[in-house]
Amino acid sequence: MAGGIANHLEGEEALDALAERLARARRVTALTGAGVSAASGIPTFRGEGGLWRGRDPKTFASREGFRANPKLVWELTRERRELMARAEPNRAHEVLAAWSRRLPRFTLITQNIDGLHERAGTIGALRLHGSIWDVACALQCEQAPRRWRDRKAHTRRLPPKCIYCGGLLRPGQVSFGQRLPLDAALRAGMAVDCDVFLVIGTSAEVHPAAGMIGQAAQAGAFTCEINLVDTPASAIIDLALRRPAEEVLDALETRLLAFEAQAAP
Ligand code: NAD
Repeated sequence: MAGGIANHLEGEEALDALAERLARARRVTALTGAGVSAASGIPTFRGEGGLWRGRDPKTFASREGFRANPKLVWELTRERRELMARAEPNRAHEVLAAWSRRLPRFTLITQNIDGLHERAGTIGALRLHGSIWDVACALQCEQAPRRWRDRKAHTRRLPPKCIYCGGLLRPGQVSFGQRLPLDAALRAGMAVDCDVFLVIGTSAEVHPAAGMIGQAAQAGAFTCEINLVDTPASAIIDLALRRPAEEVLDALETRLLAFEAQAAP
């Protein structure tokens, strides 16, 4: 539905129309990216002021990057782990968590690895890229699970060693070129078949997550992008809201609660 019907709406009018759609929807799905956590002080991948500035993420968030310089990858991971551990969920996380508990069929799909959706109390978040706290054996030794949680790995001498085989340990989040966790990918694939699909704070450049926007539109969903700037997905979405996620979601929640209060017997 390129150039959709609601694209001409501005500001408050657009929020009213979207809130009405959300209130009527039988199934709502939201796909989030790093922009949702920007207000919590976690820099995005792309854009000004990022931890990644001056470095192509692919040089270290990939197998090749790790092979080339495991110590540097772990130093950057330590930096991000310390930052993410200190961060607190913001209003965007809170509203999405409230929807996961209140809306009858709401699914949250996230590319984020910071765990802030879960810490805000979101039920059933589908984490496509795993967690910053995951680790994996770089040699994929037989004794080790595919990935496991180790919150202390970055505090050891870097690069840390696999506790099973003594080889190198690598950060366990999904890196470029790796397959997504099967269960989360399958559930996310089913959730794109919805009435309203929200795309929040993602540059829509990382696949396969970005492909879900087109799939949702094809399946007949009303698609809305909440981002500060245009992205490759902007051309195919029905409504673009160019304001911070934490503001837009707060405004939508106010309206939704008002609808629910009116509808209550
Ligand atoms: P990205 O960095 O590529 O894009 C972030 C997007 O958020 C940009 O389009 C930016 O304009 C937008 N944005 C910034 N502040 C915003 C705000 N307040 N409200 C709404 N939008 C805002 O992020 P992505 O698309 O998620 O990139 C993919 C990869 O980055 C993922 O693999 C993810 O694992 C990784 N990543 C995760 C985190 C995290 O977990 N917090 C942080 C950095 C990178």
